[in-house]
Amino acid sequence: MAETAADSVISKEKDYAPASTSSTSEEKVVSEIDIQNLTIDDCNKFLDEDSNIKIITSGDTPYRSAFTFEELNLSPQLLKGLYVEMKYQKPSKIQAISLPLILDPPYLDLIAQAHNGSGKTACFTLGMLSRVDPKLKAPQALCCCPTRELAIQNSEVLRKMGKYTGITFECAIGGDFTTETHIKKRSPITAQVVIGTPGTIKRRMTEKTLGLSYLMMLVFDEADHMLAKEGFKDDSLNMMKHIGRVTSHCQVLLFSATFNESVKKFAAKIVKGNHNELFVKKEELSLESVIQYKVDCPDELAKVMVIKDQILEFGERIGQTIIFVRTRNSAIILHRSLVDLGYDVTTIQGALKQEDRDKIVKEFKDGLTQVLISTDLLARGFDQQQVNLVINYNLPVKYDHSTEPDCEVYLHRIGRAGRFGRKGAVFNLLCGDMDEMIMSKIETHFDMKIAKVPDWRNEEDFKAAMRSAGLL
Ligand code: ADP
Ligand code: MG
Repeated sequence: MAETAADSVISKEKDYAPASTSSTSEEKVVSEIDIQNLTIDDCNKFLDEDSNIKIITSGDTPYRSAFTFEELNLSPQLLKGLYVEMKYQKPSKIQAISLPLILDPPYLDLIAQAHNGSGKTACFTLGMLSRVDPKLKAPQALCCCPTRELAIQNSEVLRKMGKYTGITFECAIGGDFTTETHIKKRSPITAQVVIGTPGTIKRRMTEKTLGLSYLMMLVFDEADHMLAKEGFKDDSLNMMKHIGRVTSHCQVLLFSATFNESVKKFAAKIVKGNHNELFVKKEELSLESVIQYKVDCPDELAKVMVIKDQILEFGERIGQTIIFVRTRNSAIILHRSLVDLGYDVTTIQGALKQEDRDKIVKEFKDGLTQVLISTDLLARGFDQQQVNLVINYNLPVKYDHSTEPDCEVYLHRIGRAGRFGRKGAVFNLLCGDMDEMIMSKIETHFDMKIAKVPDWRNEEDFKAAMRSAGLL
């Protein structure tokens, strides 16, 4: 199936924009500790082996990483949430390192990078739930996420982890236009934690129904995108300005698996001078448990055939699958082709009605659907442990430069498989010299070699690939 002209025309219309490439720098004096010198429990080995996370702490504060959740001085109610509701046993490496940085006075700002699927959500969720005063019925922590899907997912994590704390939360995301217009005046938010998307949060701040007087924590999930020019930079700075007018004691936490150099510098500029940082080298970011392949396909129809005959044929044996496409139009066309061939797939993209987006995600999370086609709307943050196969039907390219790969988005897409050390496989379907070139730039960027599946028509080749990835 060939992409239509209309498809290439709207190829710039992405549901997800890449990180900014322009910003200014500001150096700061910090002491650097090699994380390998800190003792972290073996339980995280799968996430740790090659992850040389660098901690840069501000000043001489003696932070200590933890072996157990108990050592983090979490309340008994939170421990119960972690053990009973989340079924976690021990903190992951990023949790062990970042939580003391978040929870110890003087509550410095933190820029934290850690691998996809390594448990960053719990870092800031436990941070918010620990620092909020349950007796004070006003917004005290605010978490901004780039998509409604992520805001809903993070709210769900907070609901479960905080179940025994009595702390209240509100998910501030847009409703559909029709319902919104009926609401003339919204009542002020009294929930103690607010998790939402920039548009709605900004609106609530402007209309003064999101009070900021007691705010002491501001979190940006997928922070590099929240601070990128093509992302939500203006909204984020605007929110920070609003908050800065009311309080100077708000701790800022920036979490993401990716921070390119310019966004890193910009992030360091907007947090307070005295802050902590955790970073991972880009060459060490890709997950060892997720095996990546590339497949040469002579034409677009061959790509559909590969998905149908060589991958989806394995059915439920290989768990759930996400197929990433570049544009909304590609999503619609691929959906139609697979449905016509008798496959039961669902598709999510930004042009759908919000209630439909919510329903499609819920069905996939509930395991009712097996294969989900998505634009980059779900490239970041989406957490479904049963996903162990990611297919790049189109490679991700830069928003304003379609011959350049978007390496950050690539890393986030493949990170939808292999959550918390699980096994996974990625198939990059390549068609033509341009795709070859983009793929090789991605390989160079991450300093890795991606194995080629020898023949797109050979079932045995795909079986062998899946077997090597531990999926069959
Ligand atoms: P990311 O770092 O990409 O934001 P998430 O926070 O979404 O990762 O976590 C990835 C998965 O790992 C989630 O399903 C989460 O429930 C699980 N997880 C996180 N921390 C732990 C832990 N300490 N023990 C077991 N599972 C965990
Ligand atoms: Mg995340």
